[in-house]
Amino acid sequence: MSPDSSERYRKLRLQMVSEQIEARGLSDERVLTAMRQVPRHLFVSSDQREHAYEDRALPIGPQQTISQPYIIALMLSELELKSTSKVLEVGTGSGYQAALLAELAGEVYTMEIDSELSKIAVKRLDDLGYTKAQVICGDGYAGLPAKAPFDAIIVAAAPPSIPRDLVKQLAIGGRMILPLGVEVQYLVVLEKTKDGIVSRELGGVSFVPLKPQE
Ligand code: SAH
Repeated sequence: MSPDSSERYRKLRLQMVSEQIEARGLSDERVLTAMRQVPRHLFVSSDQREHAYEDRALPIGPQQTISQPYIIALMLSELELKSTSKVLEVGTGSGYQAALLAELAGEVYTMEIDSELSKIAVKRLDDLGYTKAQVICGDGYAGLPAKAPFDAIIVAAAPPSIPRDLVKQLAIGGRMILPLGVEVQYLVVLEKTKDGIVSRELGGVSFVPLKPQE
């Protein structure tokens, strides 16, 4: 790609942040800065590049998608990440959201069940310098007990019910956000307090299903 096209994509990216994210009321400056930074067009195949900054999800392979930019920004804002946070992502996919997490958090683990997708994401994140994001090929339902507890967990595919193992791996004060449900899905934010779990529902969403353990 020529330097001109990267400048053109940068403009589209800034426009995406102002028109799709700030205009809908999200104002978390750290999240906005990360979204202005990470080159979303380099996380999709060349035939999707032109569409990378549109207000919608994008295909990244067989029945898999990167979420709409606004939904990603909303989910990241709800996690209230700090530069020292330890985060687990379930569903690496293209690696786009993992790159955003690498901009926002201190330690980033991301799990992908599909070995092909995970290999591609490892290489892409490496090539783009997002070496902080560690990709693990494995089943996200089980999480990553060896690295727990996490300050935040973000799930990028929808399970039918809240995965218990992931709740166990949250630190006290930690937050998890996930799309929940089969036909009707909602975003759910869960906070683990010393007195138990407090959860809230955000709006309706449409995610690919989290694949069950085989
Ligand atoms: N966050 C991604 C989009 C993820 S799409 C991005 O920014 O591009 C959902 C991903 O979850 C798919 O890649 C799918 O293969 C993966 N997935 C589905 N079930 C899973 C499971 N049980 N464990 C880990 N990954 C899973």
